[in-house]
Amino acid sequence: MTRPTDPQTGFAPGDLVAVLTTQPLDRTLDYRAPDRGCSLGDFVEVPLGPRRVTGVVWGPGEGGFDPAKVRPVHRVLDAIPMRDEMRVFLARAADYTLTPLPAMLRLATRTPGLGHDVGTRRVYARGAATPERMTDARRRVMAVLDDHGGLTFTLSELAGMAGVGTSVVKGLVRLGAIDEREAPRDTPYPPLDPDLPGKPLASDQAAAAAKLSEAVRGGAYGTTMLRGVTGSGKTEVYLEAVAACLRSGRQALVLLPEIALTAEFLARVEARFGARPAEWHHGVTQTERRRCWKMVAEGGAQFVVGARSSLFLPFRDLGLIVVDEEHDTSYKQEDGVCYSARDMAVLRASIASAQVVLASATPSLETWANVEAGKYAALTLTSRFGDRAMPRMQAIDMRAQDVPAGRWVSPALRAAVAERLERGEQSLLFLNRRGYAPVTVCRACGHMIGCDHCDARMVEHRFSKRLVCHQCGESRPVPPACPSCAVEGRLAPVGPGVERMAEEAAALFPDARIEVLSSDLHASARALKARIEAIAAGAADIVVGTQLVAKGHNFPLLTLVGVIDADLGLQGSDLRAAERTFQLMRQVAGRAGRAERPGAALLQTFQPEHPVIRAILAGDEDGFWRAEAAERRAAGVPPYGRMAGIVLSSPDLQAVFDLGRALARADAPLRRIGADLYGPAPAPIARIRGRHRVRMLVKADKSAPLQAAVAEWLAAVKPKGDIRLTVDIDPQSF
Ligand code: ADP
Ligand code: ZN
Repeated sequence: MTRPTDPQTGFAPGDLVAVLTTQPLDRTLDYRAPDRGCSLGDFVEVPLGPRRVTGVVWGPGEGGFDPAKVRPVHRVLDAIPMRDEMRVFLARAADYTLTPLPAMLRLATRTPGLGHDVGTRRVYARGAATPERMTDARRRVMAVLDDHGGLTFTLSELAGMAGVGTSVVKGLVRLGAIDEREAPRDTPYPPLDPDLPGKPLASDQAAAAAKLSEAVRGGAYGTTMLRGVTGSGKTEVYLEAVAACLRSGRQALVLLPEIALTAEFLARVEARFGARPAEWHHGVTQTERRRCWKMVAEGGAQFVVGARSSLFLPFRDLGLIVVDEEHDTSYKQEDGVCYSARDMAVLRASIASAQVVLASATPSLETWANVEAGKYAALTLTSRFGDRAMPRMQAIDMRAQDVPAGRWVSPALRAAVAERLERGEQSLLFLNRRGYAPVTVCRACGHMIGCDHCDARMVEHRFSKRLVCHQCGESRPVPPACPSCAVEGRLAPVGPGVERMAEEAAALFPDARIEVLSSDLHASARALKARIEAIAAGAADIVVGTQLVAKGHNFPLLTLVGVIDADLGLQGSDLRAAERTFQLMRQVAGRAGRAERPGAALLQTFQPEHPVIRAILAGDEDGFWRAEAAERRAAGVPPYGRMAGIVLSSPDLQAVFDLGRALARADAPLRRIGADLYGPAPAPIARIRGRHRVRMLVKADKSAPLQAAVAEWLAAVKPKGDIRLTVDIDPQSF
């Protein structure tokens, strides 16, 4: 293949080109264009020392080296070149998050086998025949195929996902239950038909859908908050915006916060458009990821449903990004590159001339502030679809309830659950704490068992009979004796986790079927999904769950939500605590009464007069946001001020503090923009995995050039040895 040399973007053989690689360097490297020349955005393989690494042609070479020593590009990879739009996006995202560009490029090249010709492969799909004798192993294989309607797998993928040996799959091939064939590696996704009839929309839905569709057709950038309580029909509305996007021939992306949600979601997409979208998240096989990446670039994928990292896919023509449950904290990536998927969605869309829809029952204060400032449009769905009422919310004043020590269910909540049991309805007991007990204390000496590597308590998990550190994952068996005083038999659990709540529920309601939903109790996302579906179908009377249950799952028989400790999230010094508690309580309460039965939510609290609790009970969303906005404005914190969190970590405590103090002395660039610097001080979790963590916070006015100042400040002092430095712009907790 000879490449035409475009005078704007092409480089003739021997020209100097700058190549950005994913290697941890803070700059591009110069190479000579190869014999056939190359173009801006080409994926290339270049020599680096003794190795060959992948990179992208980023611009003309910078020169300044001995020309004789500049090596040639080894080869141009057979992959669609990175578009200008993507290069601009990565560069701006790197500037915004203060991330080195190579680390940003890594996010955009997370695809296996980039640029290699992979020819055909043998694939396996559902066959026509039905085996006469079904074994457990065979059933699991068929279940994987049925769960992923229409998708094909390689032999090892299919066997691996089903947890069986490959001989089981081969056996099913011989029986005709599975088809085996050669297929090109990467094929386009089945086309979606936006003109299939959707559900007839209620009037507020129709109005919102029309507005969004019009915006999408306009083909320019814009962001809209789509607000409405859970069940108000937001998903139906934004699927109409997706339809408009598909009709205009552009690609659509829907971000979801949690993988467990996608099964239900994919089925809805299929019902609306006649085929499934492409998927991009951790649960997807390497082969499928490869296909997705390539098809997104070529246009063979019209619609992607994915996790936050799908923002870095090489879309050919992105017209719409929906961020569903936009307030969800899982959109904030906090290790490696710190970024908010919501902010990155807006950035990406503004570069791509695309529309953004931020959907939520409880939008983030950031989004509210942008609506108020006129930067975002707002659409509100006023009623639950079919006029289902939001559940009645009531406080249970725990100061007036007689609850024995080591128990947490009040008589009032107990009576409400008993009523549901009598009527054959489901109850949810909500406690946002995994495990059995958050603290294990020795009653002989008062010692609390902590993690050896982290500044954190070990949490007892009774189902697995282990103590687990929720920071680093370290676990060990519950010891028979106190590790501090060696007295035996005096270790006692303190406080409740969901496992302990399940125990209490079993004692209170011995005949009820009780189920615990917690992220650590299920072997896989698939197993969890299966449990959720069984529960939704009525397999449990009482569900004891963590925030896992708060996220959009539909439990039609559920009519009571009992919040065990509504005060839990209000403790501590986190300024976002109020916002999170408000959102979480409203989301959890929204689980009740989704079908034809009205629901109730009971909040156990020791401070019913707390303004956040009162706002939750009153359902006064606007009032809550006004009060919260006023407080943040007064404190000058996001979204009304700007912040950067810098965490220094090292096994050597002295070294991190020394660096922190050196940074504090070099604060001239920060003072120049009028920013305040706090710290160095121990981070909220002062040690993780044996590394001491010290934090510094920079606080500046909304209009101050925060990133430029922070970049200049940090450049002056280089971390030495094993010190790691991470920057988090607008950190979640501060
Ligand atoms: P949200 O995204 O706001 O939680 P959904 O769009 O999921 O709400 O709607 C809640 C339920 O109501 C879903 O089961 C959905 O299928 C149903 N629903 C929403 N709008 C309609 C409609 N116009 N016609 C029929 N069913 C609808
Ligand atoms: Zn630990």
